[in-house]
Amino acid sequence: MELSVLGNSSRYLVPLGAGTSYLLSEGDARLLLDCGNGTHLRLAQVLEGKPLSGVLVSHFHLDNVADLLPVAFSLAPGTPLLIPTGAEARLKDVLRAYSMDRSWIQNARLEGLTRKSKVEIGPFRLTFCNVGHGCPAVGARIEGPSGTLVYLADTGPRPWFADFARGADVLLVHTLLLDRDEGEAARTNLTAGAAGRLAREAGVGKLALSHVPFYGNAEESHAEAKGAFGGEVVVLREGQTIPVAKADQGTLATGPA
Ligand SMILES: [Zn+2]
Repeated sequence: MELSVLGNSSRYLVPLGAGTSYLLSEGDARLLLDCGNGTHLRLAQVLEGKPLSGVLVSHFHLDNVADLLPVAFSLAPGTPLLIPTGAEARLKDVLRAYSMDRSWIQNARLEGLTRKSKVEIGPFRLTFCNVGHGCPAVGARIEGPSGTLVYLADTGPRPWFADFARGADVLLVHTLLLDRDEGEAARTNLTAGAAGRLAREAGVGKLALSHVPFYGNAEESHAEAKGAFGGEVVVLREGQTIPVAKADQGTLATGPA
């Protein structure tokens, strides 16, 4: 599997930066993880007309879903659109309001997710956990033939995360903060240090930090997470692609340096 970063900005108006969106690929299967502001055109460029196999929305903050409408309306009929449970009605209302064709909403495959949900999309087997971000939201464990990705978008710490992420090849975590940061945001967002401690407890192969502030704590985030984890840590950049594979199957990361 490969994970490509279409966007991972933590703010709405970053010069040339886009909101959260990742494309997970395995053969002909392509699963989109979130679709933040500015990512729809980047997705179109990457796909070059090839279809998405499914879309997973981690939560309904605008930097994760601003481009959901054009993405949703571009899906082939029956393509699963997975969202946290509790958000189905309002998303259906929005899709119905903007749909030019009533058949689109009739054929849409919206699935609300709970921590008990199990979903298969092509070669991907998905399970989910609750997260803490003050809105309907899920974390996802995505297992494929060649590797396992655990995706924790914006969330505060939760005691079950280590079990949920156990043994993953890549743990993708949004880390808006550093351990020294305090206040309201620390209850609903992880620090780089917390991500590192989680990666160590879960025994993951690699820790990928994302969604770090654009104003420049990437080096500090890396150092703090690395110090806590002890294993490989990468701070993801927009346009970067990394392998999601067992350690002996991994290849060098590609994309802009
Ligand atoms: Zn959020």
